[in-house]
Formats: sequence, structure tokens, C-alpha cells
Amino acid sequence: MKSFYLFVFSLCSICAYSQTQDSLEVKKESKITLETAFPVISLALNASLEESKISNDSILTKDWIAENWNTKVFNPYKNTRKSYPLHITFDDSTYASPIPRKKVITSRYGWRNRRAHNGIDIDLITGDKVMSMFDGVVRYVNRHSGHGKTVVVRHFNGLETVYAHLSRQMVKVNDTVKKGQIIGKGGTTGNARGSHLHLEIRFQGIPIHPEYIFDFSNEDNIVRANSIWINDKWTTAYRHNSKRKSKVDLCTTEEEALQSKANEKKVYTVRRGDTLSRISSKYNISIASLCKENSIRRTSTLRIGQKLVVTQ
Ligand SMILES: [Zn+2]
Repeated sequence: MKSFYLFVFSLCSICAYSQTQDSLEVKKESKITLETAFPVISLALNASLEESKISNDSILTKDWIAENWNTKVFNPYKNTRKSYPLHITFDDSTYASPIPRKKVITSRYGWRNRRAHNGIDIDLITGDKVMSMFDGVVRYVNRHSGHGKTVVVRHFNGLETVYAHLSRQMVKVNDTVKKGQIIGKGGTTGNARGSHLHLEIRFQGIPIHPEYIFDFSNEDNIVRANSIWINDKWTTAYRHNSKRKSKVDLCTTEEEALQSKANEKKVYTVRRGDTLSRISSKYNISIASLCKENSIRRTSTLRIGQKLVVTQ
């Protein structure tokens, strides 16, 4: 039926085109001709256009497994454009614990030894099972520099979970895995002092603070919301301390995320020749407030590259 209406519509367009040379006029005329001469067909056509809009929308629903699927590299999103705030949705309200014991976090996402620690370390004993947190497809199984034996699973909402320092990898790339399915055994491969699971949560290649999205504090394994909006604060390691728990202020709407971004404190990076008084006058903040905000003393030596919060 739909193709019949489209055929009639094409015929009308061709007729209208033959009446004038001006293409803009053609569109106008063909619309007038169609609506006045064939009102019923016009209605049906509108309905069919509406139908195709709906099917287009479902096409637009991303197939995360098909896009940027590369089993050879750790981060296949390196050259893609990302826009903040990021938005992730979940069908599940809980995740499967990646280890079969109480989750003891030994190091958090954040700045550590002057480097970014892009995941959290969960204590385990070598040989402990490591499980996929959600249903998904295994994208990467390899040794990845300091991460040692690593497995990356991409889930159907686009989120990737990274399991590192494994002693054994028990899945192959392109394997479909279920939530809670064993994907390997924990260990100390790569750059690990003691046996632990280094767990990263990535979206479009960007490492996200895992505790912003998931609650690791108990055995309820809660996903904090079905719709989560993420500002760059939660994807920037230096804004967090790997030894301290960051206070989570979850954004579940785009408006909240934009508002939270607007309220964010401004961070200044110390340059050569900077002094506390120069920074304080530049940002119109007293030296006392600057010291208080950043837990430093007036006599503290500033390091080049040091980050200072410059709003009160
Ligand atoms: Zn780690």
C-alpha cells in the first residue's frame, strides 16, 4: 500500500515539474496539487511519512556492538568526537559483582603517584573467578602493557568494562557473555604489586569514575540510576584522589548535568613564576581562601603543573 502512495506522489511531482522550470516553485505547486486534488491520498501519505519517521528513529537507536568494533586495540574510540555531558542508560538496576567475595577497594579512581589511575582496584586472591558485570560481547582479550592480561567486554548500552591483571583469560573475542559469567581468573599480571582486579568503566573510550555510576560499598550491587549524565569532572582523574572517596552528586537529567557543570569550581594549573598572591589577585580570591580551598599553607611551595581550585 505504502509503495502505491509513493508511486502516486511521484507521478504528481513529475506533473508539477513539467509545469514550471523553477524548482522551488515546483515543490510548492506539487504540494498544492496533491492536497487539493487528492486530499485522501495526501492524508495517507502523511500517515506513511509518520510511519517512516518512527522506523527511522528505531534505526537511530545505536547498535553499540556494531560501531567502532575492533578486537585488536584497547581503545577503538581514540579518534572519535565526544560531546559532554555523556549519557548512559541502563536496563538493569543492579550489576553482577565482578568478584565472588566482599568488595574491598584498595585504590580508587583518581590521581595517584602523579599519574592518572583510571579504574578502581578491588582486592582478590589469585585464582578467584572474575565475572562480567552485565550481558555483553567480549571485544578485547590481550596483554595490555601495565594492565597485564586484560579482558574488555562491551555491553549493549555502549558501556565497556575492563578487567585487568588477570592470571587467566577464559573467553575469546566476539564471545557473547551473560551478566555474572566467568570471564577469567584474578591475578597479578602486568604492573600489579599484589593480587587485585583493576576494573575500569569506559564509555566511547573515556574512563569514567566507577563509583559515580555504581555503588561498591555493599553487596547490593546497585546501578545508581537508569539514566546517568556524566560531566568531565567524572572522567578526569586529577579531579579525584585515589586514596579518598569522592562525594557523588548524581545527575539523572541533562539539565542537572549542565547546572552542575555551571556550578563547578574553577581549577587553575600553576605555571612557572606563579605565586599565591599573583593567583589570588588574578582570580579575585583571598590568599586565606585559596589556602583553605586547597589545604595548603601560605608558606607552601607551588609546583609547576599543580592544580589549584580558584573559586570559593
Ligand atoms: Zn588499578
